[in-house]
Amino acid sequence: MTASTTAAETRAALDALGFDPAAYTGGSLAAHSPIDGAKIGAVRETSVAGVEEAAGKAAEAFRAWRLVPAPRRGELVRLFGEELRASKAHLAALVTLEAGKIVSEAAGEVQEMIDICDFAIGLSRQLYGLTIATERPEHRMMESWRAAGPCGIISAFNFPVAVWSWNAALALVCGDPVLWKPSEKTPLTALAVQAIFERAVKRFGDAPDNLSQVLIGGREIGAALVADERVPIISATGSTAMGRDVGQKLAARFAKAILELGGNNAMIVTPSADLDLALRGIAFAAMGTAGQRCTTLRRLFVHESVYDQLLPRLKKAYAGVAIGDPRDARVLVGPLIDEHAWHGMERALGDATGLGARIHGGQRREVIGEGVYVDPAIVEMKSHEGPMLRETFAPILYVMRYRDLEEAVALNNAVSAGLSSSIFTNDLREAEYFVSEAGSDCGIANVNIGPSGAEIGGAFGGEKETGGGREAGSDSWKAYMRRATNTVNYGRTLPLAQGVSFDIGD
Ligand code: NAD
Repeated sequence: MTASTTAAETRAALDALGFDPAAYTGGSLAAHSPIDGAKIGAVRETSVAGVEEAAGKAAEAFRAWRLVPAPRRGELVRLFGEELRASKAHLAALVTLEAGKIVSEAAGEVQEMIDICDFAIGLSRQLYGLTIATERPEHRMMESWRAAGPCGIISAFNFPVAVWSWNAALALVCGDPVLWKPSEKTPLTALAVQAIFERAVKRFGDAPDNLSQVLIGGREIGAALVADERVPIISATGSTAMGRDVGQKLAARFAKAILELGGNNAMIVTPSADLDLALRGIAFAAMGTAGQRCTTLRRLFVHESVYDQLLPRLKKAYAGVAIGDPRDARVLVGPLIDEHAWHGMERALGDATGLGARIHGGQRREVIGEGVYVDPAIVEMKSHEGPMLRETFAPILYVMRYRDLEEAVALNNAVSAGLSSSIFTNDLREAEYFVSEAGSDCGIANVNIGPSGAEIGGAFGGEKETGGGREAGSDSWKAYMRRATNTVNYGRTLPLAQGVSFDIGD
């Protein structure tokens, strides 16, 4: 029976990760594999009181952890990276089983965790501030960066482990304990990561308890975390609807928000583009992860002079792509996460049909058990409207012709999300225009690569309804710390800034 293989393989992966079966059986939150819809675990849920208790423990851990020198904190992350390297194959297998990612993408997701650990280790010796010229004699002015407090991390199903690590590796070297509310659709991978982390803590020796805690449950558990005054930073990854709610609640209590929300990402293919390269870029960005990446390519604007060359090739690539069981290394497109995702896809395709669009693909297929498998869809649109303006978390690529680049860039920017974008061109002027002030308004703007598949060295995130947050590389670490400006007077007088005089006599 196929339905039982995912459950058995999940058990095997969890066993290999040293997991006690009691941790993933007998609880009230069922985990299902999108591969066949089978139940692969039942984990215990955290109560709202449990969230409060965890926040108290994190606050206590913070008091000790912030005093540990940052390079020593980096040592814990180094050990965690080592544990991840040792567990990579089993954790990746679990990502495939619980989130439905193909083998190569699941391994890539764990590699991303390892990469951010490496980044954070170096960062632990580089949490530096500026020394700034002061207008007052015999004074020194400087910035220092301090740990900010426990960091709550709310994550989405589609990057069940990497998103947590982008935040956690940085937060931990910055001196902040973490509290993780993973997606209710991927609790097992979260618990497995926590178990791997605890192995690193044990080897580290003298870390305070509860540096990382996992809170299992649905949005009400996320909401309890968002409400807790002892958690001054929340990094929330998910839909724009979630971010709108979370962002407003955090603003009301003046907490820091790192919001990583939905995208509606575009690519422009210009007359000078290398079409072989563009074709490969489109295929990965639009069909990879079965269209379930925040950076998935959803809108393609092709210059009218190359449209009729590119489209037939694209349709051929779509028709030939291997769809099916993500455990099979030849497969490139695995299942959607659940039935709900298919309903969203059906609705969007129906709306596009109503607008006179031509649809290629987009059918449901039977593959294994209750798994939701679809043919990725190409939707030739007449104009920029309807479902093209919203994010549908499924493999739908809307395609349109354009005439001049300014018009295409305006279309790129004419949606509420602002996450990722790209242009394929061999024309220097076009490339520079796209990444210029007048070009793409997104947090990510690429040339001759697709909008998805970011590496961790850059700051990751987007503008407008994508939320404005930045995670991972560059100076994203600053969001996990508080900044103090220190002015030190080493003289014997007290000159005031701006020449203000306030003489109280002798
Ligand atoms: P979702 O919004 O349904 O859930 C995300 C997480 O938020 C889950 O853990 C959920 O329990 C929690 N949550 C939902 N509502 C909440 C609330 N009101 N208060 C507190 N917590 C709440 O998203 P999903 O379906 O899991 O993921 C898909 C979405 O995530 C897409 O829109 C995708 O673009 C986005 N995403 C964005 C990024 C990014 O970096 N920008 C990365 C991955 C996914």
